[in-house]
Amino acid sequence: MPLTKIVCTLGPATDDPEVIRAMIKAGMTVARLNFSHGTSEEKRRTAQMVRAIAQQENRYVALMGDLQGPKIRVGTLPEEGIELVEGSIVILTSGAVTDSQHEIPFPHPDVLADVAAGDRLLLDDGTLELTSVSAEPGRLTCHVCVGGMLTSHKGVNLPGVQLRIPALTAKDRQDALVALDLGVDYLALSFVRSAADVGVLHDYLQGHASEHGPRRVGEDPHQIPGLVAKIEKPEALEDLDAIVRASDAIMVARGDLGVEIAPERVPLVQKRIIHLCNELGKPVITATQMLQSMIELPRPTRAEASDVANAILDGSDAVMLSGETAVGKYPVEAVRMMARIAVQVENSDEFPFDQLLNLPVDCDQPSAQIITSAISGATVTLARAANAAAICCSTESGRTGRMVARHRPKVTVLGVTPFETTARRMQLMWGLIPIVVNPFHTTDEMLRRMVQATCRRGYAGVASNVVLTAGIPLELHGVTNMIKVHTVRDADLT
Ligand code: PEP
Repeated sequence: MPLTKIVCTLGPATDDPEVIRAMIKAGMTVARLNFSHGTSEEKRRTAQMVRAIAQQENRYVALMGDLQGPKIRVGTLPEEGIELVEGSIVILTSGAVTDSQHEIPFPHPDVLADVAAGDRLLLDDGTLELTSVSAEPGRLTCHVCVGGMLTSHKGVNLPGVQLRIPALTAKDRQDALVALDLGVDYLALSFVRSAADVGVLHDYLQGHASEHGPRRVGEDPHQIPGLVAKIEKPEALEDLDAIVRASDAIMVARGDLGVEIAPERVPLVQKRIIHLCNELGKPVITATQMLQSMIELPRPTRAEASDVANAILDGSDAVMLSGETAVGKYPVEAVRMMARIAVQVENSDEFPFDQLLNLPVDCDQPSAQIITSAISGATVTLARAANAAAICCSTESGRTGRMVARHRPKVTVLGVTPFETTARRMQLMWGLIPIVVNPFHTTDEMLRRMVQATCRRGYAGVASNVVLTAGIPLELHGVTNMIKVHTVRDADLT
Protein backbone atom coordinates (compact mmCIF):
# COMPACT_ATOMS: atom_id res chain seq x y z
CA MET A 1 0.00 0.00 0.00
CA PRO A 2 1.25 3.53 -0.71
CA LEU A 3 2.23 5.86 2.13
CA THR A 4 0.23 8.63 0.49
CA LYS A 5 -3.43 8.38 1.42
CA ILE A 6 -6.18 8.23 -1.21
CA VAL A 7 -9.54 10.00 -0.89
CA CYS A 8 -12.28 8.69 -3.21
CA THR A 9 -15.57 10.44 -3.87
CA LEU A 10 -18.46 7.98 -3.85
CA GLY A 11 -21.40 8.25 -6.22
CA PRO A 12 -23.51 6.25 -8.65
CA ALA A 13 -20.43 4.47 -10.07
CA THR A 14 -19.49 3.09 -6.65
CA ASP A 15 -22.97 2.08 -5.50
CA ASP A 16 -22.03 -1.58 -5.32
CA PRO A 17 -20.43 -3.34 -2.33
CA GLU A 18 -17.97 -5.20 -4.56
CA VAL A 19 -16.77 -1.95 -6.14
CA ILE A 20 -16.24 -0.44 -2.67
CA ARG A 21 -14.41 -3.60 -1.58
CA ALA A 22 -12.14 -3.46 -4.63
CA MET A 23 -11.45 0.25 -4.01
CA ILE A 24 -10.49 -0.42 -0.39
CA LYS A 25 -8.19 -3.24 -1.49
CA ALA A 26 -6.70 -0.95 -4.14
CA GLY A 27 -5.80 1.74 -1.59
CA MET A 28 -8.83 3.95 -0.78
CA THR A 29 -8.29 5.17 2.77
CA VAL A 30 -10.94 7.91 2.90
CA ALA A 31 -14.44 7.72 1.35
CA ARG A 32 -15.91 11.12 0.52
CA LEU A 33 -19.67 11.65 0.67
CA ASN A 34 -20.47 14.73 -1.38
CA PHE A 35 -23.53 16.48 0.06
CA SER A 36 -23.85 18.54 -3.14
CA HIS A 37 -25.49 15.49 -4.73
CA GLY A 38 -27.97 12.81 -3.64
CA THR A 39 -30.21 12.42 -0.63
CA SER A 40 -29.50 11.97 3.08
CA GLU A 41 -30.87 8.44 2.82
CA GLU A 42 -28.35 7.62 0.08
CA LYS A 43 -25.55 9.00 2.26
CA ARG A 44 -26.70 6.84 5.16
CA ARG A 45 -26.78 3.70 3.03
CA THR A 46 -23.37 4.44 1.52
CA ALA A 47 -21.80 5.20 4.90
CA GLN A 48 -23.13 1.93 6.33
CA MET A 49 -21.86 0.02 3.31
CA VAL A 50 -18.34 1.49 3.63
CA ARG A 51 -18.19 0.82 7.38
CA ALA A 52 -19.38 -2.79 6.95
CA ILE A 53 -16.98 -3.62 4.13
CA ALA A 54 -14.00 -1.95 5.84
CA GLN A 55 -14.68 -4.09 8.88
CA GLN A 56 -14.94 -7.27 6.79
CA GLU A 57 -11.62 -6.38 5.15
CA ASN A 58 -10.01 -5.50 8.49
CA ARG A 59 -9.15 -2.01 7.26
CA TYR A 60 -9.74 1.46 8.66
CA VAL A 61 -11.49 3.70 6.17
CA ALA A 62 -12.39 7.25 7.18
CA LEU A 63 -15.66 8.80 6.06
CA MET A 64 -15.50 12.41 4.93
CA GLY A 65 -18.70 14.39 4.47
CA ASP A 66 -18.35 17.36 2.13
CA LEU A 67 -20.81 20.22 2.61
CA GLN A 68 -21.84 22.15 -0.47
CA GLY A 69 -21.28 25.54 1.20
CA PRO A 70 -22.56 28.74 -0.36
CA LYS A 71 -22.31 27.41 -3.92
CA ILE A 72 -24.06 29.75 -6.31
CA ARG A 73 -25.97 28.25 -9.22
CA VAL A 74 -28.35 29.48 -11.91
CA GLY A 75 -31.92 28.20 -11.63
CA THR A 76 -33.88 25.92 -13.95
CA LEU A 77 -33.60 26.77 -17.65
CA PRO A 78 -35.47 25.32 -20.66
CA GLU A 79 -34.40 21.68 -21.10
CA GLU A 80 -32.20 22.36 -24.13
CA GLY A 81 -30.58 25.32 -22.27
CA ILE A 82 -30.18 28.81 -23.68
CA GLU A 83 -27.50 30.18 -25.90
CA LEU A 84 -25.57 33.14 -24.52
CA VAL A 85 -24.49 35.07 -27.59
CA GLU A 86 -21.20 36.89 -27.31
CA GLY A 87 -21.71 40.66 -27.26
CA SER A 88 -25.39 40.41 -26.31
CA ILE A 89 -27.12 41.46 -23.08
CA VAL A 90 -28.69 39.01 -20.61
CA ILE A 91 -30.44 39.56 -17.31
CA LEU A 92 -29.99 37.53 -14.16
CA THR A 93 -33.22 37.71 -12.20
CA SER A 94 -34.30 36.43 -8.81
CA GLY A 95 -37.93 37.14 -9.79
CA ALA A 96 -40.18 35.55 -12.41
CA VAL A 97 -38.66 35.01 -15.86
CA THR A 98 -40.65 36.68 -18.65
CA ASP A 99 -38.24 36.22 -21.57
CA SER A 100 -36.70 32.74 -21.32
CA GLN A 101 -34.08 33.38 -24.02
CA HIS A 102 -32.60 36.52 -22.45
CA GLU A 103 -33.34 36.13 -18.75
CA ILE A 104 -31.52 33.68 -16.51
CA PRO A 105 -33.25 32.60 -13.31
CA PHE A 106 -30.90 33.27 -10.38
CA PRO A 107 -32.31 32.24 -7.00
CA HIS A 108 -29.81 34.25 -4.89
CA PRO A 109 -31.20 37.81 -4.40
CA ASP A 110 -28.67 38.39 -1.58
CA VAL A 111 -25.79 37.71 -4.00
CA LEU A 112 -27.20 40.11 -6.60
CA ALA A 113 -27.18 42.81 -3.95
CA ASP A 114 -23.38 42.46 -3.60
CA VAL A 115 -22.57 42.73 -7.33
CA ALA A 116 -21.54 46.09 -8.76
CA ALA A 117 -21.20 47.30 -12.37
CA GLY A 118 -17.97 45.95 -13.88
CA ASP A 119 -17.84 42.74 -11.79
CA ARG A 120 -17.10 39.50 -13.63
CA LEU A 121 -19.35 36.44 -13.45
CA LEU A 122 -17.99 33.06 -14.54
CA LEU A 123 -20.53 30.36 -15.34
CA ASP A 124 -20.22 26.60 -15.79
CA ASP A 125 -16.68 26.15 -14.44
CA GLY A 126 -15.55 29.36 -16.09
CA THR A 127 -16.45 28.36 -19.64
CA LEU A 128 -18.92 31.28 -19.98
CA GLU A 129 -18.16 34.83 -18.89
CA LEU A 130 -20.41 37.81 -18.21
CA THR A 131 -19.65 41.34 -17.04
CA SER A 132 -22.20 43.16 -14.96
CA VAL A 133 -23.42 46.37 -16.59
CA SER A 134 -26.00 47.61 -14.12
CA ALA A 135 -27.80 46.35 -11.05
CA GLU A 136 -31.21 46.97 -9.58
CA PRO A 137 -32.87 45.02 -6.73
CA GLY A 138 -33.32 41.39 -7.88
CA ARG A 139 -32.03 42.05 -11.43
CA LEU A 140 -28.55 42.22 -12.86
CA THR A 141 -27.98 43.29 -16.44
CA CYS A 142 -24.87 41.68 -17.95
CA HIS A 143 -22.84 41.79 -21.10
CA VAL A 144 -21.88 38.37 -22.53
CA CYS A 145 -18.07 38.37 -22.92
CA VAL A 146 -17.60 34.66 -23.63
CA GLY A 147 -20.70 32.94 -24.97
CA GLY A 148 -21.99 29.39 -25.35
CA MET A 149 -24.80 27.12 -24.20
CA LEU A 150 -25.97 27.45 -20.61
CA THR A 151 -28.00 24.67 -19.03
CA SER A 152 -29.85 24.40 -15.71
CA HIS A 153 -28.14 24.65 -12.30
CA LYS A 154 -24.66 25.45 -13.58
CA GLY A 155 -22.30 27.00 -11.02
CA VAL A 156 -21.55 30.71 -10.93
CA ASN A 157 -18.28 32.15 -9.60
CA LEU A 158 -17.76 35.83 -8.86
CA PRO A 159 -14.01 36.20 -8.44
CA GLY A 160 -13.03 39.12 -6.28
CA VAL A 161 -16.60 40.05 -5.31
CA GLN A 162 -16.98 40.29 -1.53
CA LEU A 163 -20.13 38.28 -0.90
CA ARG A 164 -21.96 38.63 2.39
CA ILE A 165 -23.68 35.25 2.15
CA PRO A 166 -23.26 33.10 5.28
CA ALA A 167 -20.52 30.46 5.39
CA LEU A 168 -23.03 27.81 6.37
CA THR A 169 -26.28 27.68 4.39
CA ALA A 170 -29.54 26.20 5.69
CA LYS A 171 -28.80 23.09 3.58
CA ASP A 172 -25.31 22.82 5.10
CA ARG A 173 -26.79 22.98 8.61
CA GLN A 174 -29.16 20.12 7.81
CA ASP A 175 -26.42 18.11 6.10
CA ALA A 176 -23.98 18.73 8.97
CA LEU A 177 -26.45 17.13 11.35
CA VAL A 178 -26.83 14.15 9.04
CA ALA A 179 -23.01 13.89 8.92
CA LEU A 180 -22.84 14.07 12.73
CA ASP A 181 -25.46 11.36 12.98
CA LEU A 182 -23.56 9.15 10.53
CA GLY A 183 -20.44 9.59 12.66
CA VAL A 184 -18.30 10.84 9.77
CA ASP A 185 -14.64 11.20 10.67
CA TYR A 186 -14.10 14.41 8.71
CA LEU A 187 -16.44 17.12 7.51
CA ALA A 188 -15.31 19.44 4.72
CA LEU A 189 -16.62 22.96 4.29
CA SER A 190 -16.72 24.49 0.80
CA PHE A 191 -15.93 28.10 -0.13
CA VAL A 192 -14.24 28.94 3.15
CA ARG A 193 -13.30 32.62 3.11
CA SER A 194 -11.78 33.08 6.56
CA ALA A 195 -10.89 31.22 9.75
CA ALA A 196 -14.15 32.55 11.19
CA ASP A 197 -16.08 30.40 8.68
CA VAL A 198 -14.42 27.29 10.10
CA GLY A 199 -15.31 28.55 13.59
CA VAL A 200 -18.98 28.82 12.59
CA LEU A 201 -19.09 25.14 11.57
CA HIS A 202 -17.11 24.11 14.65
CA ASP A 203 -19.48 25.92 17.03
CA TYR A 204 -22.54 24.60 15.22
CA LEU A 205 -21.34 20.99 15.49
CA GLN A 206 -20.14 21.43 19.05
CA GLY A 207 -23.56 22.79 19.95
CA HIS A 208 -25.19 19.67 18.59
CA ALA A 209 -22.69 17.07 19.79
CA SER A 210 -23.71 15.20 22.89
CA GLU A 211 -23.00 17.05 26.12
CA HIS A 212 -19.86 15.85 27.88
CA GLY A 213 -18.02 16.94 30.96
CA PRO A 214 -14.21 17.18 30.95
CA ARG A 215 -12.61 14.20 29.22
CA ARG A 216 -11.17 11.39 31.27
CA VAL A 217 -8.36 9.00 30.37
CA GLY A 218 -9.68 6.32 28.02
CA GLU A 219 -12.50 8.39 26.53
CA ASP A 220 -12.84 8.84 22.78
CA PRO A 221 -11.20 12.22 22.12
CA HIS A 222 -13.40 13.09 19.14
CA GLN A 223 -16.79 14.60 19.85
CA ILE A 224 -17.15 16.20 16.45
CA PRO A 225 -15.65 15.31 13.06
CA GLY A 226 -12.30 16.76 12.01
CA LEU A 227 -12.96 19.93 10.03
CA VAL A 228 -11.52 20.21 6.53
CA ALA A 229 -11.34 23.70 5.03
CA LYS A 230 -11.59 23.64 1.24
CA ILE A 231 -9.38 26.36 -0.20
CA GLU A 232 -11.09 27.57 -3.36
CA LYS A 233 -11.65 31.32 -2.84
CA PRO A 234 -9.08 34.10 -3.28
CA GLU A 235 -10.17 35.52 0.11
CA ALA A 236 -9.08 32.26 1.75
CA LEU A 237 -5.55 32.80 0.45
CA GLU A 238 -5.49 36.11 2.32
CA ASP A 239 -6.32 34.37 5.61
CA LEU A 240 -4.54 31.10 4.90
CA ASP A 241 -2.39 30.86 8.02
CA ALA A 242 -5.36 31.37 10.36
CA ILE A 243 -7.55 28.97 8.34
CA VAL A 244 -4.93 26.21 8.52
CA ARG A 245 -4.57 26.71 12.28
CA ALA A 246 -8.36 26.68 12.77
CA SER A 247 -8.87 23.49 10.73
CA ASP A 248 -8.00 19.84 11.26
CA ALA A 249 -7.12 19.38 7.59
CA ILE A 250 -7.03 21.35 4.35
CA MET A 251 -8.18 20.54 0.84
CA VAL A 252 -6.65 22.29 -2.16
CA ALA A 253 -9.95 22.32 -4.07
CA ARG A 254 -8.49 23.08 -7.48
CA GLY A 255 -11.83 22.89 -9.33
CA ASP A 256 -13.36 26.09 -8.03
CA LEU A 257 -9.97 27.55 -7.11
CA GLY A 258 -8.98 27.43 -10.79
CA VAL A 259 -12.09 29.42 -11.69
CA GLU A 260 -11.81 31.94 -8.88
CA ILE A 261 -8.14 32.62 -9.62
CA ALA A 262 -6.33 32.35 -12.95
CA PRO A 263 -5.52 28.70 -13.74
CA GLU A 264 -1.83 29.52 -14.17
CA ARG A 265 -1.68 30.56 -10.51
CA VAL A 266 -3.04 27.22 -9.25
CA PRO A 267 0.25 25.20 -9.27
CA LEU A 268 2.13 27.72 -7.14
CA VAL A 269 -0.81 28.32 -4.81
CA GLN A 270 -1.03 24.54 -4.40
CA LYS A 271 2.64 24.40 -3.36
CA ARG A 272 2.21 27.30 -0.94
CA ILE A 273 -0.79 25.70 0.78
CA ILE A 274 0.90 22.30 1.02
CA HIS A 275 4.09 23.77 2.45
CA LEU A 276 2.20 25.70 5.13
CA CYS A 277 0.21 22.61 6.09
CA ASN A 278 3.41 20.53 6.36
CA GLU A 279 4.92 23.20 8.58
CA LEU A 280 1.93 23.31 10.89
CA GLY A 281 1.42 19.55 10.85
CA LYS A 282 -2.05 19.67 9.26
CA PRO A 283 -2.99 16.98 6.73
CA VAL A 284 -3.44 18.39 3.23
CA ILE A 285 -5.37 16.88 0.33
CA THR A 286 -4.73 17.81 -3.29
CA ALA A 287 -8.00 17.48 -5.16
CA THR A 288 -9.76 17.62 -8.50
CA GLN A 289 -9.06 16.53 -12.05
CA MET A 290 -6.12 14.41 -10.91
CA LEU A 291 -6.96 11.53 -13.28
CA GLN A 292 -9.84 13.28 -15.05
CA SER A 293 -9.56 11.38 -18.34
CA MET A 294 -10.15 8.10 -16.47
CA ILE A 295 -13.81 9.12 -16.18
CA GLU A 296 -14.04 7.81 -19.76
CA LEU A 297 -10.84 5.85 -20.37
CA PRO A 298 -9.01 3.05 -18.56
CA ARG A 299 -5.66 4.86 -18.60
CA PRO A 300 -4.74 8.40 -17.55
CA THR A 301 -2.83 10.90 -19.64
CA ARG A 302 0.90 11.33 -18.96
CA ALA A 303 0.16 14.84 -17.74
CA GLU A 304 -2.32 13.48 -15.17
CA ALA A 305 0.16 10.87 -13.92
CA SER A 306 2.71 13.67 -13.56
CA ASP A 307 0.21 15.84 -11.70
CA VAL A 308 -0.43 13.11 -9.10
CA ALA A 309 3.31 12.45 -8.72
CA ASN A 310 4.12 16.14 -8.32
CA ALA A 311 1.35 16.68 -5.76
CA ILE A 312 2.92 13.88 -3.70
CA LEU A 313 6.44 15.27 -4.15
CA ASP A 314 5.10 18.68 -3.05
CA GLY A 315 4.12 17.14 0.31
CA SER A 316 0.42 16.22 -0.03
CA ASP A 317 -0.76 13.83 2.66
CA ALA A 318 -3.53 12.62 0.39
CA VAL A 319 -4.60 12.83 -3.22
CA MET A 320 -8.25 12.83 -4.18
CA LEU A 321 -10.43 11.33 -6.90
CA SER A 322 -13.74 13.06 -7.67
CA GLY A 323 -15.68 12.30 -10.86
CA GLU A 324 -13.18 9.51 -11.64
CA THR A 325 -14.71 7.36 -8.90
CA ALA A 326 -18.14 8.98 -8.37
CA VAL A 327 -19.41 8.82 -11.94
CA GLY A 328 -16.52 7.38 -13.96
CA LYS A 329 -16.44 4.18 -15.96
CA TYR A 330 -13.28 2.92 -14.20
CA PRO A 331 -13.51 3.74 -10.47
CA VAL A 332 -11.42 0.79 -9.27
CA GLU A 333 -8.81 1.23 -11.99
CA ALA A 334 -8.52 4.92 -11.06
CA VAL A 335 -7.71 4.02 -7.43
CA ARG A 336 -5.23 1.35 -8.55
CA MET A 337 -3.57 3.84 -10.88
CA MET A 338 -3.32 6.48 -8.15
CA ALA A 339 -1.80 3.92 -5.78
CA ARG A 340 0.70 2.78 -8.43
CA ILE A 341 1.82 6.33 -9.12
CA ALA A 342 2.19 6.97 -5.37
CA VAL A 343 4.24 3.81 -4.80
CA GLN A 344 6.48 4.66 -7.74
CA VAL A 345 7.16 8.13 -6.32
CA GLU A 346 7.67 6.90 -2.76
CA ASN A 347 10.18 4.27 -3.91
CA SER A 348 12.22 6.78 -5.87
CA ASP A 349 15.23 8.88 -4.92
CA GLU A 350 13.14 11.94 -5.78
CA PHE A 351 10.91 11.53 -2.73
CA PRO A 352 11.87 14.07 -0.03
CA PHE A 353 12.27 11.52 2.77
CA ASP A 354 13.53 13.26 5.91
CA GLN A 355 13.92 16.48 3.94
CA LEU A 356 11.15 18.17 5.84
CA LEU A 357 13.23 17.62 8.98
CA ASN A 358 14.30 21.20 9.25
CA LEU A 359 10.77 22.48 9.60
CA PRO A 360 10.88 25.56 11.78
CA VAL A 361 9.51 25.32 15.29
CA ASP A 362 6.53 27.64 15.17
CA CYS A 363 6.99 30.01 18.09
CA ASP A 364 3.50 31.50 17.68
CA GLN A 365 2.08 28.28 19.06
CA PRO A 366 1.30 27.55 22.71
CA SER A 367 4.31 25.99 24.45
CA ALA A 368 2.80 22.46 24.45
CA GLN A 369 2.77 22.61 20.67
CA ILE A 370 6.33 23.93 20.50
CA ILE A 371 7.46 20.96 22.62
CA THR A 372 5.46 18.56 20.43
CA SER A 373 7.06 20.05 17.31
CA ALA A 374 10.57 19.73 18.68
CA ILE A 375 10.02 16.21 19.98
CA SER A 376 8.56 15.05 16.66
CA GLY A 377 11.67 16.24 14.82
CA ALA A 378 13.94 14.65 17.40
CA THR A 379 12.03 11.35 17.06
CA VAL A 380 12.84 11.16 13.38
CA THR A 381 16.50 12.11 13.94
CA LEU A 382 16.80 9.49 16.66
CA ALA A 383 15.17 6.81 14.51
CA ARG A 384 17.81 7.40 11.87
CA ALA A 385 20.67 7.43 14.37
CA ALA A 386 19.43 4.23 16.06
CA ASN A 387 18.78 2.56 12.69
CA ALA A 388 15.31 1.88 14.07
CA ALA A 389 12.98 -0.66 12.50
CA ALA A 390 9.99 1.59 13.21
CA ILE A 391 8.75 4.69 14.97
CA CYS A 392 5.81 3.88 17.18
CA CYS A 393 3.64 6.82 18.27
CA SER A 394 1.10 6.44 21.01
CA THR A 395 -1.59 8.78 19.80
CA GLU A 396 -4.93 9.51 21.37
CA SER A 397 -6.20 12.03 18.88
CA GLY A 398 -3.76 11.33 16.02
CA ARG A 399 -1.79 14.53 16.70
CA THR A 400 1.49 12.90 17.81
CA GLY A 401 1.38 10.64 14.77
CA ARG A 402 0.81 13.44 12.30
CA MET A 403 3.48 15.65 13.85
CA VAL A 404 6.01 12.83 13.33
CA ALA A 405 4.76 11.83 9.89
CA ARG A 406 4.93 15.44 8.59
CA HIS A 407 8.73 15.03 8.56
CA ARG A 408 8.22 12.27 5.95
CA PRO A 409 10.53 9.81 7.76
CA LYS A 410 11.85 6.93 5.70
CA VAL A 411 11.31 4.52 8.57
CA THR A 412 7.81 3.04 9.08
CA VAL A 413 5.58 5.14 11.36
CA LEU A 414 2.92 3.38 13.41
CA GLY A 415 0.11 5.23 15.15
CA VAL A 416 -0.98 3.14 18.12
CA THR A 417 -4.28 4.16 19.66
CA PRO A 418 -7.07 2.67 21.74
CA PHE A 419 -9.64 4.48 19.56
CA GLU A 420 -11.04 3.35 16.20
CA THR A 421 -12.10 6.94 15.50
CA THR A 422 -8.44 7.97 15.76
CA ALA A 423 -7.32 5.05 13.60
CA ARG A 424 -9.73 6.20 10.90
CA ARG A 425 -8.58 9.82 11.16
CA MET A 426 -5.00 8.71 10.63
CA GLN A 427 -6.07 7.42 7.22
CA LEU A 428 -5.84 10.99 5.93
CA MET A 429 -2.28 11.43 7.21
CA TRP A 430 0.71 10.60 5.07
CA GLY A 431 2.64 7.50 6.08
CA LEU A 432 0.81 6.70 9.30
CA ILE A 433 -0.18 3.08 9.76
CA PRO A 434 -2.99 2.92 12.32
CA ILE A 435 -3.03 0.16 14.94
CA VAL A 436 -5.82 -0.15 17.50
CA VAL A 437 -4.84 -1.68 20.86
CA ASN A 438 -6.77 -2.42 24.05
CA PRO A 439 -7.06 0.59 26.36
CA PHE A 440 -4.12 1.19 28.72
CA HIS A 441 -4.11 2.95 32.04
CA THR A 442 -0.47 3.46 32.97
CA THR A 443 2.63 4.61 31.11
CA ASP A 444 4.28 1.20 31.54
CA GLU A 445 1.23 -0.53 30.15
CA MET A 446 1.20 1.89 27.21
CA LEU A 447 4.88 1.24 26.39
CA ARG A 448 4.35 -2.52 26.60
CA ARG A 449 1.35 -2.33 24.26
CA MET A 450 3.29 -0.18 21.78
CA VAL A 451 6.21 -2.62 21.57
CA GLN A 452 3.92 -5.66 21.40
CA ALA A 453 1.77 -4.12 18.66
CA THR A 454 4.87 -3.25 16.64
CA CYS A 455 6.37 -6.73 16.92
CA ARG A 456 3.16 -8.73 16.52
CA ARG A 457 2.46 -7.03 13.23
CA GLY A 458 5.95 -7.82 12.03
CA TYR A 459 7.40 -4.29 11.98
CA ALA A 460 10.23 -5.18 14.39
CA GLY A 461 11.87 -8.31 15.82
CA VAL A 462 14.16 -9.28 18.67
CA ALA A 463 17.29 -7.07 18.92
CA SER A 464 15.91 -4.36 16.65
CA ASN A 465 15.39 -0.81 17.87
CA VAL A 466 12.01 0.84 17.98
CA VAL A 467 11.63 4.55 18.74
CA LEU A 468 8.64 5.14 20.99
CA THR A 469 7.07 8.56 21.40
CA ALA A 470 4.05 9.69 23.42
CA GLY A 471 2.63 12.28 25.77
CA ILE A 472 2.90 11.40 29.43
CA PRO A 473 1.39 11.26 32.00
CA LEU A 474 -1.67 9.83 30.27
CA GLU A 475 -4.13 12.28 31.80
CA LEU A 476 -2.16 15.14 30.23
CA HIS A 477 -3.69 15.87 26.82
CA GLY A 478 -2.25 17.85 23.96
CA VAL A 479 1.50 17.45 24.40
CA THR A 480 4.02 14.91 23.12
CA ASN A 481 6.97 15.02 25.48
CA MET A 482 8.58 11.57 25.61
CA ILE A 483 10.97 9.64 23.35
CA LYS A 484 12.46 6.25 24.16
CA VAL A 485 14.69 4.00 22.10
CA HIS A 486 13.66 0.47 22.93
CA THR A 487 15.65 -2.58 21.93
CA VAL A 488 13.22 -5.45 21.50
CA ARG A 489 13.80 -8.45 23.83
CA ASP A 490 12.30 -11.94 23.79
CA ALA A 491 10.19 -11.00 26.80
CA ASP A 492 8.45 -8.26 24.75
CA LEU A 493 6.99 -10.84 22.40
CA THR A 494 5.07 -12.80 25.04
C1 PEP B 1 -13.17 21.54 -6.02
O1 PEP B 1 -13.77 22.58 -6.35
O2 PEP B 1 -12.03 21.27 -6.44
C2 PEP B 1 -13.79 20.61 -5.06
C3 PEP B 1 -13.14 19.59 -4.58
O3 PEP B 1 -15.05 20.88 -4.66
P1 PEP B 1 -16.40 20.25 -5.26
O4 PEP B 1 -16.05 18.86 -5.71
O5 PEP B 1 -17.34 20.28 -4.12
O6 PEP B 1 -16.76 21.17 -6.35
